Amino acid sequence: MTNHTAGKHVYSFGGGSAEGRADMKELLGGKGANLAEMANLGIPVPAGFTITTEVCTYYYEHDKSYPDGLQTRVDEALRRVEEIMEARFGDPDNPLLVSVRSGARSSMPGMMETVLNVGLCSRTIPGLIAKTGNPRFVWDAYRRLITMYSDVVMEKAAGIEPEEGEGIRQQLDRLLEAKKKERGVSFDSELAAEDLEELTASYRQKVREVLGADFPDDARDQLWGGIGAVFGSWNGRRAVAYRRIEGIPDDWGTAVNVQSMVFGNMGASSATGVAFTRNPATGENQFYGEWLPNAQGEDVVAGIRTPNPLNEEAKNEQNHHLPSLQEAMGDVYGELVDIRNRLEQHYHDMQDIEFTIQEGRLWMLQTRTGKRTGTAALNMAMDMLSEGLIDQRQAVLRLKPAQLDELLHPIVDAEAEEGFEALAKGLPAGPGGARGQIVFTAADAVRWAAEGKQVVLVREETNPEDVEGMRAAVGILTGRGGMTSHAALVARGWGKCCIVGAGALDIDVKSKTVRADGTTLREGDVVTLNGTRGLVYAGELPLIDATENPRFQEFMGLADDIRAMAVRTNADTPDDARTARSFGAQGIGLFRTEHMFYGAGSEEPLFALRKMIMAGSEEERRAALDELFPFVKRDIKATLEVMDGLPVTIRLLDPPLHEFVPQDPEGRTRLADALGIDGAELDRRAEELHESNPMMGHRGVRLGVTFPEISEMQIRAIFEAAAELLKVGTKVFPEIMIPVVGQVSELDDQLAIAKRVYREVCDATGRNEIPHLYGTMIEIPRACITADEIADTAQFFSFGTNDLTQMTFGFSRDDIGGFVPEYLDRGLLPVDPFQVLDRDGVGVLVKMGIDKGRTTRPDLKVGICGEHGGEPSSVEYCHIVGMDYVSCSPYRVPIARLAAAQAQIRFPRE
Ligand code: PEP
Ligand code: MG
Repeated sequence: MTNHTAGKHVYSFGGGSAEGRADMKELLGGKGANLAEMANLGIPVPAGFTITTEVCTYYYEHDKSYPDGLQTRVDEALRRVEEIMEARFGDPDNPLLVSVRSGARSSMPGMMETVLNVGLCSRTIPGLIAKTGNPRFVWDAYRRLITMYSDVVMEKAAGIEPEEGEGIRQQLDRLLEAKKKERGVSFDSELAAEDLEELTASYRQKVREVLGADFPDDARDQLWGGIGAVFGSWNGRRAVAYRRIEGIPDDWGTAVNVQSMVFGNMGASSATGVAFTRNPATGENQFYGEWLPNAQGEDVVAGIRTPNPLNEEAKNEQNHHLPSLQEAMGDVYGELVDIRNRLEQHYHDMQDIEFTIQEGRLWMLQTRTGKRTGTAALNMAMDMLSEGLIDQRQAVLRLKPAQLDELLHPIVDAEAEEGFEALAKGLPAGPGGARGQIVFTAADAVRWAAEGKQVVLVREETNPEDVEGMRAAVGILTGRGGMTSHAALVARGWGKCCIVGAGALDIDVKSKTVRADGTTLREGDVVTLNGTRGLVYAGELPLIDATENPRFQEFMGLADDIRAMAVRTNADTPDDARTARSFGAQGIGLFRTEHMFYGAGSEEPLFALRKMIMAGSEEERRAALDELFPFVKRDIKATLEVMDGLPVTIRLLDPPLHEFVPQDPEGRTRLADALGIDGAELDRRAEELHESNPMMGHRGVRLGVTFPEISEMQIRAIFEAAAELLKVGTKVFPEIMIPVVGQVSELDDQLAIAKRVYREVCDATGRNEIPHLYGTMIEIPRACITADEIADTAQFFSFGTNDLTQMTFGFSRDDIGGFVPEYLDRGLLPVDPFQVLDRDGVGVLVKMGIDKGRTTRPDLKVGICGEHGGEPSSVEYCHIVGMDYVSCSPYRVPIARLAAAQAQIRFPRE
């Protein structure tokens, strides 16, 4: 595009045609491109022109100057506008006024600047009064121009940073208030023309006094001042911060739209409004919007007056007494409905529009694809599909996978949320909303919940001993930890609302208080969590129930028809497995055996595990393993049974051993007694288990290599459970997975055990075979690099991208809270790599692992079971590099199904 447009920096629109088009957003910005498109469609748009984003880029690359010839181009474009609008810019008899607005490629609402009524000055004011016969209107427009211009151009764009409350806009507003007081009126609209005229004089005086410069009294000076200010606002503090959050590149730049003004404030037959072609909250196929008679656009948005409903459908409790546009101006409303229909037919999507009616004549000021809730997105997609407006693929692309969250969990009412200030912000670890009384210990959570209370468990961080309390709580909030911290993993697994790493919280478990931002909350005080956004609120915010929607199932069916990858779940209990199947999981991609040692019913197996860990000899260890065996087998069997022949990837034990050593004196004594040793000996053995770096210590396959009897016990449990189920006619498909492998020798070592046990179980149960696979996790960089060798033994790979990210970055999973937030703030990292797979680093290793693995074993089955398996952009990457499946926590299964379908639409694969 750049080539053939080089040098053409100004694009005209209006009078039934335009030089631009909707698909030129990169060059013209969203607003400019859509204004051009509407003009081409013959929809009434006030004439104007767009100065391209290339000029913005040039402006910043050339010390804030413009390319050669821009002035001439602007003059030419202005002349065209003058012809169409039959008025002249700066002309004393028949003046044309223009607006100057920003317009980036993707919308950045409220982040950049706008100046309206440009062209009003002492030369043009009398002419406009004579032309309109409405001096009050003209002085009011002039007053607004001075306010906006001095604020945007003379203060902000000039880099002046006034003290709080002393900005020029606020100082001018105070003059306005004083004038109203003097006149004894309460609304701006009650001031007379003379009042406003006097006010503009004192405004100009004030501008000179505060900013040390005159408000420009020349139309062209105002125009170029406005253009410069819009380009300047691209690098304003707000805009830069917004781009960071939304991931918009700095070098996109903004366009500038100069457009003739039309006025909705010229009397009773004038009006302004905003509308959505369908209801953006519910998705209903109803024209929906608001309007204000005799007003300018900013009045609708500012919320000073209650806007009128657009039609019957938009009436509600607050506005039902006000006349709708349909009632007040039936003809114009009819015209607007016609435009609404044309825009939808043309764009094949819901549009968010702005319009102005000047003395009975309708003008369109903007159209863009409208933002919508998850529910609305779903309903619109399904409606438009059945209306024939879009096809199946387009329908599937209409929901962002993250929006599904909203359909699966109760959520905080977004409208109500706007009126509240968050107490703290953390990482959005578990989705949806939760509201409850705060408690500070897991035991309190359990007790209060048993009394029927809704509680939010507040902890500095959680550990396995908190699990019961976490289960009992409606929400979990921690001060430390990242997206793969214990609390986050557990909460997400349950689909429970959870915020982790809210560093601003000062949590004091002793006094049972939490302080933040000058507020102190005590045990029993109510908080509301928005787990989808990571926001913590003091007090009660309304939650909306995510209702069961049959259309959801239908929609997911469309996605399933398209996708190429299977979706499995990470589940550790039969309950989770059942939930996941109800969400459409096609197998288990990660069954973490050690989870049976947490939570309800875990006492006995946990005690046996502790004995095993603290055993002093192989004999002691074997005795403990014998005790443990029935629990392990029972657990595996129950889950295999629920999955009914679907693949179940069972990972051998990968526990951080020290975590399982009891800390309480009572527990220690009991354990010592059971092992027949004294307290001192127990302490000594516990001390031996201590590691300086447990994440890279004696874990995963290393445990099985040094203590083969541990692997043996687990493998036997798997095969025996499978054999017992087969015997009663239940289908099974276990996949044995070895964790933390870095070299094929480790895998071979364990395979020897597996083969021996397999034969033994087959013989003992009289079976010829038990269907199964033998494979490995790929979570160490060395495993990726030597994947061709590993695939000689492994029949499948499952990428453990939690550890792979940890070891590729050298970032400890549990300690990123200390520095990653700052990396994100300062743009050193675009996103948290533990949430979104890092394609440039970790992703390259993943791809290498798959490619090398498949050179040895072309039919190698490949999946992912790290947390990334439920994150849409990571799922897309897994599709691109050719994985067979992704696996994620149960509540994320629908998200992964949709993300996989969208990936196939965008990057089709055979
Ligand atoms: C991983 O490392 O990605 C993984 C799934 O294993 P865990 O989170 O249990 O270490
Ligand atoms: Mg791991």
